[in-house]
Amino acid sequence: MPIKAPRVCSCGKIVPANVVCLCVQRRKAESDKRRPAASQRGYDHEWQKAASAYLAEPANQYCECGAPATLVRHIVSIRQRPDLRMVRTNWKPGCRRCNARDTTTQSKEIG
Ligand SMILES: [Zn+2]
Ligand SMILES: [Zn+2]
Repeated sequence: MPIKAPRVCSCGKIVPANVVCLCVQRRKAESDKRRPAASQRGYDHEWQKAASAYLAEPANQYCECGAPATLVRHIVSIRQRPDLRMVRTNWKPGCRRCNARDTTTQSKEIG
């Protein structure tokens, strides 16, 4: 019986024919984590509704920088904890500028 030749993965490692390379496993685990369980559209509708109710509360009128709050920010990034997206204790009122700054920092950490 012929032995299948190992192949070279796109990451440069030599992988036995019947084995999935670690880099592929890791990539798959990460994309599974990122994908929201609920359908994107229904989830977003729910989010919009909850977020505007949150921002309507007197305690949530201003961003920490003092600007009027126009959106809900997450205290713990939902990139790390997607399950905390709809959890109010993980929310804070924010403005567009601070939110953009958050997003930039986060993508730097990831990249
Ligand atoms: Zn690989
Ligand atoms: Zn702000």
